[in-house]
Amino acid sequence: MKWLKQFQSLHTKLVIVYVLLIIIGMQIIGLYFTNSLEKEMTETFKTNIAQNAKQIELSIERIYAEGNNTTNTQKEIQNLLNEYANRNEMIEIRFIDTDQIIVATSKQSNRHLINQKANDSAIQKALSLRQSNSEVVLKDYGEGKQRVWIKNMPVTTSKGLIGNIYIESNINQVYDQLSDINQIFIVGTGISLIITVILGFFIARTITKPITDMRNQTVEMSKGNYTQRVKIYGNDEIGELALAFNNLSKRVQEAQANTESEKRRLDSVIRHMSDGVIATDRRGRIKIINDMALKMLGKTKEDVEGVFIFDVLDLNDELSLDELNDNNESLLIDINEEDGIIARLNFSTIVQNTGFVNGYIAMLHDVTEQQQIERERREFVANVSHELRTPLTSMNSYIEALEQGAWKDESIAPQFLSVTREETERMIRLVNDLLHLSKMDNKSEQVTKEIVDFNMFINKIINRHEMSEKETTFVRDIPSQTIFTEIDPDKMTQVFDNVITNALKYSRGEKRVEFHVKHNVTHRRLTVRIKDNGIGIPVNKVDKIFDRFFRVDKARTRKMGGTGLGLAISKEIVEAHNGRIWANSVEGQGTSIFITLPCEVIEDGDWDAN
Ligand code: ADP
Repeated sequence: MKWLKQFQSLHTKLVIVYVLLIIIGMQIIGLYFTNSLEKEMTETFKTNIAQNAKQIELSIERIYAEGNNTTNTQKEIQNLLNEYANRNEMIEIRFIDTDQIIVATSKQSNRHLINQKANDSAIQKALSLRQSNSEVVLKDYGEGKQRVWIKNMPVTTSKGLIGNIYIESNINQVYDQLSDINQIFIVGTGISLIITVILGFFIARTITKPITDMRNQTVEMSKGNYTQRVKIYGNDEIGELALAFNNLSKRVQEAQANTESEKRRLDSVIRHMSDGVIATDRRGRIKIINDMALKMLGKTKEDVEGVFIFDVLDLNDELSLDELNDNNESLLIDINEEDGIIARLNFSTIVQNTGFVNGYIAMLHDVTEQQQIERERREFVANVSHELRTPLTSMNSYIEALEQGAWKDESIAPQFLSVTREETERMIRLVNDLLHLSKMDNKSEQVTKEIVDFNMFINKIINRHEMSEKETTFVRDIPSQTIFTEIDPDKMTQVFDNVITNALKYSRGEKRVEFHVKHNVTHRRLTVRIKDNGIGIPVNKVDKIFDRFFRVDKARTRKMGGTGLGLAISKEIVEAHNGRIWANSVEGQGTSIFITLPCEVIEDGDWDAN
C-alpha cells in the first residue's frame, strides 16, 4: 500500500509527466527527422545513380557514333561498364540493345548472360516507350534479401534508339545508414530520459518539498498545533504560498488564542454568576451547568450532565422543547423541594443564522427569600388584622349590649365594662408590641449597651418575680464568679421577663422555674437556661414559637392575654446583642429556653485603670 501511495504522490506524478513529455517530444522529432533524412538520402542516392547512368549513356552514344564494327563496339561498352563496376553503390550495369539482347554486363558472374535475351518487362517497357523507369525490389544475392534500386534508361542517338542501360544499385546501404542514425537517436533518447528522470526528480522535489511541508503543517494544525511554521524556499509562487500559509496559521493561532481566552472569560463569568445557568444542546441535554445552578438543584455535576433538562427541573408536564423561544414568560418553580428553594426560570434559545436551533439556555434566579418575605408580609398583615378584629368584635358586642340597656343592670354592667377595658388593654399591648417590633425592624430603636455584672442582673430579675409569685419555686444555678457582659439592661430585662412570664403562664399546679447560668471563658460567651415544668411544646412547633403571632394553642393563649409577639420581640433583642435564643421542650414535661450572650473577660488590671 505504501508503494501505491508513493506512486500517487505529486512527486512521482511530476516525474512521470516529464518523462512522458520527453518521450512524446523525441517521438515527434524522431519521426519527422528520420522521414526527412530518408527522403533526402534516397533522393541523393538516386540522383547520383541517375548521373552515372547519364555519363554511361553519353559514353555509349559516343562509342556508337565512332564505331561501326559490332564486336569492337561490344568490347568498348564492356570496358566502359567495367569502369563503373567497382563503384560501391553499383551492383550491376548492363547494356541491352533494342532486341533486348544483353550486350555487356559489369558483373563478372553474369558474363555468361551476354548475347542472351533479357526477359524483363521493365526493360521492354523502357525500350518500347523510350522512357526511363525505376523501382525498388527485394533481391537475394546469397546474403539474405536486400533492397535494390533498378533503373532502366533507353539510349537514343540521332540515328534513333540504340538500346537500354540497366542499372542495379545497392540502395540498401542508404537504409543501413538510416538504421545506424536511428540507433544513435534511440540511444540519445534513452540517455536524455535518464538525465530527465534524475533532473525531474530534483526539480519536482523543489516543488513538492514546500507542498509536503505545508501538508504536514496542515495535519498538525488539524490536531490543534499552530506553533510550527513552514520553511520558505524561494520567492516564486510556492514561496508566496508558504508565506501566506504561515500568515494564515499565525492568524488562526491568534484567533484560537482569542477564542480560548474569550471562552475562559465566559466560563469564569458563568461560574461566578449569582444566578444559575444551564446550557443544553439542541435536544435539551445538559452540556454546561454552573455551580450556582447545581447548588440550587442540590445535585452534583455528574448527576445532571447529559440528562434532559426538563427531567432535572421536573417540568415535563408543563413544557416541551418545541414551545421554547426567546419570548417565553418566566416561570416560578420549586426547584428543590427538600430545601424549599424557589427559582424564577427564564429560557432562551440559541439560534444560528440559518434558523437552526443550536441549543437552549436556562437562567435560574433564586427568589426563595423574596418569596418568603412576601409571604411573611402577607401573613403579618392578615395576622395583625385578625388580632385586632377579635378584641374589637368582642368590645363591639359588649358596648352594644350596654347601649341596649345593660348599663342599667348593676349586676352585669361593671363586668361588661371590665371586659371592655381588658380588651382595650390587650389591644394597647398588641399595638405597643407591634410598634416595638417595627422599631426593631427599622433599627430605629437604639440598643444602649453598658457593662453589667450579669449574675447581679439576673438575680435582681429573679428576686422581683419571686416576690410576686410566692407559690412558685425558683431554682438558681449561678456561678459565684462574676461575669461581665455588655448589654442594654432594660431590653434584656424585657426578654427575661417575657421568658419567665411564659414559664409561669404555661405551667399548671406546682410551678418550678430553674435558672442555669454557664460561663465559657474561651469562647467568651455565657448561656442562660430557663427551665420550667409546664405543659411543654409539641416537637414540631418548638422552632416556630419565635415567629410573630405564633401560638401553640391560639384560643387558650389569647385567654391568658398573650399576643404571640413576646418571643419574637425577645429574639430581635437577643440578636441585636449578637446573641442567640432557642428552645428545647418535651410536651407535658416542660420547656427550656436557652439564651447565649457574648461576655467580657475583665482582668484585674482593668479595674485599676478605672
Ligand atoms: P404569648 O404572648 O402568646 O405568650 P410568646 O411569643 O411569648 O407569645 O410565645 C409564643 C407561644 O409559645 C406561646 O403562645 C406559647 O404557646 C408558646 N410558649 C412560649 N413559652 C412557653 C413555655 N414556657 N411553655 C409552653 N409554651 C410556651
